[in-house]
Parts: sequence; structure tokens; C-alpha cells
Amino acid sequence: MQHFEVAVIGGGLTGSVAALALARAGRKVAFIAPAVEDADRRTTALMDQSIRLLERLGLWDTIEPSAAPLSVMQIIDGTKRLLRAPTTQFRALDVGLPAFGYNIPNTALHGTLDAAVAAEPNLVQMHDRVELFDFGPERVTLTLSNGEPLSADFVVAADGRNSAAREAASIGTRRWSYPQTALVLNFAHTAPHGNVSTEFHTETGPFTQVPLPGSRSSLVWVVRPEEAERLCALPLEELSTIVETRMQSMLGKVTIDAAPQTWPLSSLMAERFGKGRLALVGEAAHAFPPIGAQGLNLSLRDIIDLSQSLSAHPERPISADAGDRFNSRRRPDIMTRTFGVDLLNRSLLSDFLPVQMARAAGLHLLASAPPLRNLVMQEGIEPGRGLRSLFDTLRQEMRR
Ligand SMILES: Cc1cc2nc3c(=O)[nH]c(=O)nc-3n(C[C@H](O)[C@H](O)[C@H](O)COP(=O)(O)OP(=O)(O)OC[C@H]3O[C@@H](n4cnc5c(N)ncnc54)[C@H](O)[C@@H]3O)c2cc1C
Repeated sequence: MQHFEVAVIGGGLTGSVAALALARAGRKVAFIAPAVEDADRRTTALMDQSIRLLERLGLWDTIEPSAAPLSVMQIIDGTKRLLRAPTTQFRALDVGLPAFGYNIPNTALHGTLDAAVAAEPNLVQMHDRVELFDFGPERVTLTLSNGEPLSADFVVAADGRNSAAREAASIGTRRWSYPQTALVLNFAHTAPHGNVSTEFHTETGPFTQVPLPGSRSSLVWVVRPEEAERLCALPLEELSTIVETRMQSMLGKVTIDAAPQTWPLSSLMAERFGKGRLALVGEAAHAFPPIGAQGLNLSLRDIIDLSQSLSAHPERPISADAGDRFNSRRRPDIMTRTFGVDLLNRSLLSDFLPVQMARAAGLHLLASAPPLRNLVMQEGIEPGRGLRSLFDTLRQEMRR
């Protein structure tokens, strides 16, 4: 039976980055990933910290020509409610960065990752599913769908929301759903976007335009499920006019490329993110609505943490409690992001006046208080960055 130091399960974006990062960190990796079938027309906004990970992995130069920088992000209250929030703008230059991050087509991410994985000498890829898991005290034994067994010191489960690894390790989940569907599409427009992303807050959820290279943008539009069905059935020309009107023609004439794709919205959080010789990463551990570009960014922080801890002593075998330690380290970040996104989404859906007042007041405060806005921007880019910069400023003030 073949033995590996690490087995990474699942060939989505999380699993592909994890397999590559751990192989580059000096571990012998088995990457068990059935071929990804559906054409994924989504784009992913990755923040500065995630872009730096792609740079360290030598992927960024290939991806960059397909990506558009996000220099300004603005929130416009598009609700018809009595209490409306002011328009709030976040500028990357205010926190010393040319861009908060970049918006990248998922096809470009997958293509670059597939090529890097195929060329990685420390990694063996298997296009199979894992059917059976046996978590022993010394090692984990996996049986693939072709009947082949293999063993590993440590398993990284990136096998998505319905993770079989999580179930085999008897780790429960909390799941909840929302009466919302995300409609995803890409479009060309006649006016330049100036690297500005605009999020309109509406009564059914956000309507978020994110720049792509040239005069093109992607859109994530959160609506009720029946409305998503109606919009998907429309001819593309009619849908283009609706999108343009929703955006108050701020990008000129809109022409949608191809039929939209839809994603029902729900959240999930595993009770633990690691246990013994297992770590859960990406949507196997945490999933939530696509609001504020948090999902894959959070997953990449799982991977940064894992590769740092597993590469600290590459000459030593991976310890039997590495999963428990991963669980304790990742818990605060994962819980903050999951509940933060949930709160923001619910505050948009709620018709309860005090909730609307709190949301409007929060955005008003952000619009009128630059130091607070800077803190929020920095925390959005990388957890802890805002607080570190606040303490640095205070330290400098005290020295004066
Ligand atoms: C509309 C939308 C927009 C988004 N936009 C952003 C954004 O702008 N920024 C951001 O950071 N995030 C964004 N996200 C989130 C991001 O797309 C996800 O976090 C990410 O794609 C999840 O990837 P994953 O690899 O964890 O899971 P998945 O993509 O679900 O991959 C799991 C993989 O595991 C495989 N698998 C399952 N079982 C087994 C098994 N037994 N053996 C082997 N393999 C198995 C599956 O075949 C699959 O390929 C968005 C999400 C949506 C829905």
C-alpha cells in the first residue's frame, strides 16, 4: 500500500491550493481529486493576503492578466425603505495599497492550478473519489472508488459541503438556509468601471458588480428563488436592460455574455475544524452566502495556517494531534466571518425597523468616520491587520 505524509481530498479551488501549498512546504502529498465537470462561470474576488499566497506559490504571474484590480469598493443603499444608509466608499489607497485585491475568473484559477499541480514533483494526483476512511491512531487508511487503498499520516479534507471525511470522523455541522438564490453572470459595458466595485443593498440581498479586465464586469445578484427562476428564463437582451436599469446606467449599455448560473444560498459550520489526524478546510468546514467576498479568502487562510504548521519541522512526522491544534487556531477567524456575513445578510432581509436603523447607522458611521472606515477596511483585507495598524499609530503618538 502506498504511504504519504498528507492526503488532500477534493479538487475544488480549496483542495487544489492546499495540495500545492503542502507539497511546496516539503510534504509528500497524495491529491485525490475527481475531475471537476461543470463549467464554472463565477469569478472570485481575492484580497491582498490571498494574492500574496498565490505569489508565493508562483501562480500569480500567470493569473494576473485575467484579473482586474479592486481599487475602490462602494456600497449604495438601493432599498426603498424609510431609513436608507448613505453611500459609503472604501479606497485602497487610504490604507496604503494600490488595490484591496483582484477579481479573477474561476476558469483562470482552475487552469493555472491544474498546470502547477501536474508539474509538482512532491505530489501524486489520483482522479478518484475516496469511498472509505479508517482513522487509526498511527495513520489514516483511505480506499478509493477503484478499490485501491492508500495511507497517510494526515488528511486534509477539502471535499466540500457534504464532506464524507467530516462524516466519517463523526464531526457534526450546524446548517441554516436563506430564502435567497445568487444569480451569477458576466457582462460587457460601454463606460469604463475605473476598477470600482459597487454593491447595491436591496430588500432581497446585495446586487454586486465587480470589475473584470477591460470594459467587462461580473455580477452576483441575490434575489428570491422564484425571482431567480423568472430572470433566468428571460432573453439575454431583456435581462441586460434590467441589469443596466438596476445599476442606474452607471456603466453605460450592458450586454450579458451567456446565460446566468444560479446558487441557492445557505450556511454551514462544522462543530470542529480538525480532530486528530484530520483537518477540514474550505466549504467542508465553513460555507456562507457570497457577500463581501469572504468564502475562498477564509479557505486560503486555513491553508496558510496548515502549511505554516506542517512545514515548521518537515523532518519530523506529523503529530497525532495536529488536527486538534488546527481546530483551536482557526476557530476565532472562522466564527467571526461566518456570523459576520450572516448578520449582514439578515440585516438586509429584515423588515424590522430597529434592525434597519442599526444597519443605516452603522453605514452612516463608516461614511463619516475615516479612522473607523480604515480599521474596517484593513480587517476586511486580513484579520488583525487593522488592529495592528491602530496599535502602531497609538505607539507612534505616545512616542511624540
Ligand atoms: C456565487 C458565488 C460567488 C462567490 N464569490 C466569492 C468571492 O468573490 N470571493 C471568495 O473568497 N469566495 C467566493 N465564493 C466562495 C467560493 O467560491 C467557495 O468558497 C469555493 O469555491 C469553495 O471551494 P471548495 O473547494 O471548498 O469546495 P467545492 O468547490 O465544493 O469542492 C469540493 C470538491 O471535493 C470533491 N469531492 C467531494 N467528495 C469527494 C470524495 N469523497 N473524494 C474526493 N473528492 C471529493 C468534489 O468533487 C469537489 O470538486 C463564492 C461562492 C459563490 C456560490
